[in-house]
Amino acid sequence: MSLANGRPYLAIPGPSVMPEEVLRAMHRAAPNIYEGDLIEMTAGLIPDLRYVARSQGHVAIYIANGHGAWEAALANVIAPGERVLVPATGRFGHGWAEVAEGQGIAVEMLDFGKRTPVDLNRLEAALRADKTHKIKGILATHVDTSTSVRNDIAGMRAVLDAVGHPALLMADCIASLACDRFEMDTWGVDVMVAGSQKGLMVPPGLSFVFFSDKAADARRRMERVSRYWDWTNRADPQMFYQYFGGTAPTHHLFGLRAALDLIKTEGIEAIWTRHETLARAIWAACETWGQTGPLELNIADADLRSRAVTALRIGAPHGSALRQWVQDNAGVTLGIGLGMAEPGDPAWHGFFRIGHMGHVNAHMILGALGAIESGLIALDIPHGPGGMAAAARVIAGR
Ligand SMILES: *Cc1c(COP(=O)(O)O)cnc(C)c1O
Repeated sequence: MSLANGRPYLAIPGPSVMPEEVLRAMHRAAPNIYEGDLIEMTAGLIPDLRYVARSQGHVAIYIANGHGAWEAALANVIAPGERVLVPATGRFGHGWAEVAEGQGIAVEMLDFGKRTPVDLNRLEAALRADKTHKIKGILATHVDTSTSVRNDIAGMRAVLDAVGHPALLMADCIASLACDRFEMDTWGVDVMVAGSQKGLMVPPGLSFVFFSDKAADARRRMERVSRYWDWTNRADPQMFYQYFGGTAPTHHLFGLRAALDLIKTEGIEAIWTRHETLARAIWAACETWGQTGPLELNIADADLRSRAVTALRIGAPHGSALRQWVQDNAGVTLGIGLGMAEPGDPAWHGFFRIGHMGHVNAHMILGALGAIESGLIALDIPHGPGGMAAAARVIAGR
């Protein structure tokens, strides 16, 4: 007998749960890539992607995961030998920096550790120190999925403007897009990268690079950009194949169409509010459980937390034991701790994450939390009473 039999919930921070509408849209025979539905549908994706990004700017689509979008974004605006500034707040900030290094870009690192957001004063000092404007781009992570910290992207724009520094503001919104409020144009973001498999609710395999006119100018000044990563034709195709630099990602596009329909129907503001409320329910439960015992939210200040993912510390071996228990006994798969300790280090087993991005609602979150509370009880992990009731009060609006 297993109480896990039934519909599983993959509560990891990407890939996220796929709506039935997305799955159904993808379940079809191979379409013609020269005429018909696919061709007619694709152009219409662009304004809807802009709607999600809150941007009137340009967008290029890549058949790639988020790592591909990182590389694509850099390839268009930062030449080998040029410099970027990377304010890192977790594993993903370091990841983008490593991709830059691989492209021969000089990386200046500002490391803010694993539990705090970017300190804008330190960012300002680094930019002021760059008197000759060697720094061409700031690689900022909006939500670092490993730590679940949420950074102040608008604040970074304000710092750039106050210093009068011309560097491009480049934001990684792979975890946050369509989960946490993000306003590309209002916040003055020049380049933004996103992936299909998180807030956009589509399988991994598509990624997006949004860019401003200022970034488009920077691209035009590049001596050369590798043909495949070049965003010029992708964002302004004269022929259909140019959207994708080759064969279209046919089924992903039908899935994306269905996902964007869901997003437009719900409305981006309502989506942000739903994520906000569900996140608060999770935090209420976790804070209550943490009143006694080892459970702790990785980011102490709620204002600095992501609404898409929550990173937790619980001490080894409880993190791994709890993940295993809820998977085997309740059909909920929680995320591993990422970048908190080295794999192989016993401390690695002391972390887990809850993904709450995209196609999630109150019953899914309450179910995941109920499974966690059951696991805490079953494994004799000390915890404060009343976590589920605290979450239920948030959902009830009391
Ligand atoms: C998931 C994620 C990535 C990496 O995306 P992949 O599709 O795994 O390459 C990068 N940055 C952030 C913030 C992410 O959440």
